[in-house]
Amino acid sequence: MSLETATTRVGEPSRHPVIVVGAGMAGLVAAVALFEAGIPVHVYEAADDVGGRIRSTRGNDGFILDRGFQVLLDAYPAASRWIDYEPLALGTFDAAALLWTGRRLVPLANPFRHPAGSLRDLTSRILPAGDKVRLAALGARAALAPWQSANQAATSLGNDISGSEFLWSQGFSETFVDRLARPFWGGITLDPHLSGSAGPLLFTLKMFLKGSAVLPAAGVRAMPAQLQNRLPEGAITFKARVTSIVIEEGRATGVRVNRKMIRASAVIVASDPVTAKKLTRVRTLPDEEQGIPSVTVFLAGSSPPGTGPRLVLDATRQRLVNHLAPLSAVQPAYAPPGQHLLAAVIVGEAARTGDLDALSLQAREDAAMMLGHRTQDWHVLDVVRVPFSQFSQPPGIYRRLPGNVTPTRGLYLASEATVDSSYNGAMLSGEVAAGIVRRDLATASGAD
Ligand SMILES: Cc1cc2nc3c(=O)[nH]c(=O)nc-3n(C[C@H](O)[C@H](O)[C@H](O)COP(=O)(O)OP(=O)(O)OC[C@H]3O[C@@H](n4cnc5c(N)ncnc54)[C@H](O)[C@@H]3O)c2cc1C
Repeated sequence: MSLETATTRVGEPSRHPVIVVGAGMAGLVAAVALFEAGIPVHVYEAADDVGGRIRSTRGNDGFILDRGFQVLLDAYPAASRWIDYEPLALGTFDAAALLWTGRRLVPLANPFRHPAGSLRDLTSRILPAGDKVRLAALGARAALAPWQSANQAATSLGNDISGSEFLWSQGFSETFVDRLARPFWGGITLDPHLSGSAGPLLFTLKMFLKGSAVLPAAGVRAMPAQLQNRLPEGAITFKARVTSIVIEEGRATGVRVNRKMIRASAVIVASDPVTAKKLTRVRTLPDEEQGIPSVTVFLAGSSPPGTGPRLVLDATRQRLVNHLAPLSAVQPAYAPPGQHLLAAVIVGEAARTGDLDALSLQAREDAAMMLGHRTQDWHVLDVVRVPFSQFSQPPGIYRRLPGNVTPTRGLYLASEATVDSSYNGAMLSGEVAAGIVRRDLATASGAD
């Protein structure tokens, strides 16, 4: 899998479509943007469906299971440009959480969204009062910042530091970091040590203040499906793995799929970062070892979890489960009538190496304990490990990530790996890649 140099003459590039490699969110946005700008485009996708890491299945039992616990933050700037929320019939998480203290669940909510509990939350001793003031001040700063991505939030710091260092530098206590920040942002970045860049922490704080975490009624797959529907019939070839990019006279002129060469006016590689690195040889793309794993245990039961649409965070940091997401309380379509669906999420080292059967049983016990239920009230529906859920984003990474333009003419990247590891990063990258390709094709045809 690589770049392939040929010696044949280059044909007339403008007659061929732009080829997009991969139908994840980045590739789909790039393809839709080009198609809607009147540029012929064709997508080759190795899998049998769109979405890449964003997949959902509805089983015969009536449960919808996403490919691990995932949520859309509806304030993501790129999502609001590319996704039409109305038809997705979104279910919304409360702007609140329940913190498991080892004995009970303590509620904590954004007082502006949930004023009814504000006096209780402000006087609760789960977090020091000073930290609540600091969080309000940090939130005000984040809300006013012009960031369009976690990448931009990190870059605005000048000297990017880790999430934990950032919180300490702002005067937050160990109690705050351990009880709230590690399970909450550790759940978002899949890094409970908060050793990654402070960018995702700041940007998601802004997103949670501007909007909500939401789930489409048909599962997260509804987002890529919506983009697919904006492309003409037959614009995507499935089960078509691109094995190399064809380079002629120093320019990308096509791809090879099942040994067959397919010509292109330009090639946008929108695969996962590891494959993109092999195909393009852009060295600054993340490797397999930079993948962060996650494990989601889906639990079903006939009694409601009793949390309402609120995340449960392990404030003790003693449990295997980092957080519980009451999926069907947020989006009732995720479970058949009379049933309830819960996601128990495991991050950190156990997610990388733990035996899945053992993890599932422990997750079920943890979930029941945190909810004050009996273990037998919940049964394991499925367990999903995604070894490369996100790529690791240590401080300073955003200065090292590649841009959309590669050193090879006619070869471009559209991927979370040019922005940051999120739906927003992927969509923003697809949008920017399409803009650059349009400009370059227009320049080339002007020069003809
Ligand atoms: C469990 C989990 C939870 C997550 N939670 C969230 C969340 O809550 N919020 C959030 O913002 N982000 C979340 N993410 C991250 C988010 O899903 C990704 O950042 C984003 O989907 C990446 O999109 P992409 O288009 O860059 O890449 P991908 O989704 O990886 O898409 C790449 C596509 O390229 C295809 N492909 C690969 N190789 C080839 C080839 N040789 N030829 C043809 N096609 C190829 C693949 O099959 C795939 O369809 C989560 C991810 C996981 C796995």
